[in-house]
Amino acid sequence: MATAQTVAFHTLGCKLNYAETSSISRLMENEGFEKREFTDHADVYVINTCSVTENADKECRQLVRRIQRKAPESFVVITGCYAQLKPKEIAEIPGVDLVLGAAEKFNIAQHIRELSKGDSAKICSCDIGEVTGFNTSYSLADRTRTFLKVQDGCDYNCSFCTIPMARGKSRSDLIQNVVTNVEELAQKGTKEIVLTGINLGDFGKGPDGAGVTIGMNSREENFYELIQTLDKVEGIDRYRISSIEPNLLSDEIIRFVAGSNKFMPHFHIPLQSGSNQVLGAMRRRYKRELYADRVQLIKSLMPDCAIGVDVIVGFPGETDELFKETFDFLHSLDISYLHVFTYSERANTLALDIEPVVPMQVRHERNKTLRNLSYMKMQYFTAQHQGQTRKVLFEDHNKNGMMEGYTDNYIRISTPYRAEWANNIVDWKLQ
Ligand code: SF4
Repeated sequence: MATAQTVAFHTLGCKLNYAETSSISRLMENEGFEKREFTDHADVYVINTCSVTENADKECRQLVRRIQRKAPESFVVITGCYAQLKPKEIAEIPGVDLVLGAAEKFNIAQHIRELSKGDSAKICSCDIGEVTGFNTSYSLADRTRTFLKVQDGCDYNCSFCTIPMARGKSRSDLIQNVVTNVEELAQKGTKEIVLTGINLGDFGKGPDGAGVTIGMNSREENFYELIQTLDKVEGIDRYRISSIEPNLLSDEIIRFVAGSNKFMPHFHIPLQSGSNQVLGAMRRRYKRELYADRVQLIKSLMPDCAIGVDVIVGFPGETDELFKETFDFLHSLDISYLHVFTYSERANTLALDIEPVVPMQVRHERNKTLRNLSYMKMQYFTAQHQGQTRKVLFEDHNKNGMMEGYTDNYIRISTPYRAEWANNIVDWKLQ
């Protein structure tokens, strides 16, 4: 295809996907493509999919149908986690021209050039075991806050999760490259960087997952070294750690964040269940006692620190009693908010063999119960800080006359728009 000139993107799923779409878009713009909004007409539409999203298949079909109605002559490219996991299923969706797996998603421009509108979709996907290499990505939607991908893939085998099958083994950027990216972002005016990965605490295995060659030696770098190095880079005011497994959140990381002016007092730590029995069935690598210990250390060093928690409800074998264990455990913890996920079956995962299955209605009820708990935790956390003056970074975005920003410890502030505050850190008295 020689004539394609405009491209539009749609992203499903996590911040990592958004960071990757943003980088793919910049790569394509460097190759001469002009970017369009997804709602506008474009010669090429790229959908970056997710395997965690429920109804990934349905969402994908709906988006393709919408494109077909609007621009039947345009090319439709599907990439991302779902494209890696189910390439054939996606290729059968009427209107799809190209399906690109994990190894090819950064080469869309080349593939497009070789494409012609035909009856069947072309699939470019290899076995996930063969996917190596690390593609630097960061989102640049607005200048205020950027999600910078420093790690990809996962070597864990949680029994509910398809991510290792979709993204491959754990690998990371080199600290030296991360620093270069951070300096570049600082020059572009970015104030806050959120370090992002699939299993961020496992940072350091190098771009091929096999260690980093430094001089004559090959060794792994690690997350603690990364944050120590980034803390010294000039020009960035704030860092956040997007999410880190409790067993990888070491004392030294917590102590370092407590003593840093740049790493914000905010952690997001997946728990998934507050029952050791369920954690075992999930193949998580810690018990709830370790989790409680992490929270306790954080709060003893940083009493104002925000702690967000991921939790899954309705995992097979989660009886009413075991769910109550989770509820009581979360209730007792000094945490700030929850992200609650309803368990849903995923093909080729070990959890499919676990019984008894929890009825969907019960899963939804448990979800609601924990969402209520999250609301109460957030209210309590916010109330604890009333009257304090904290630093708020306001976003460069006028939403119907309002603007939003976050305190250092992740309390959201909304106020009438003032241009001089956009992308700036302001002392703010919490009322
Ligand atoms: S740590 Fe577990 S849940 Fe997270 S990506 Fe790896 S396998 Fe999935």
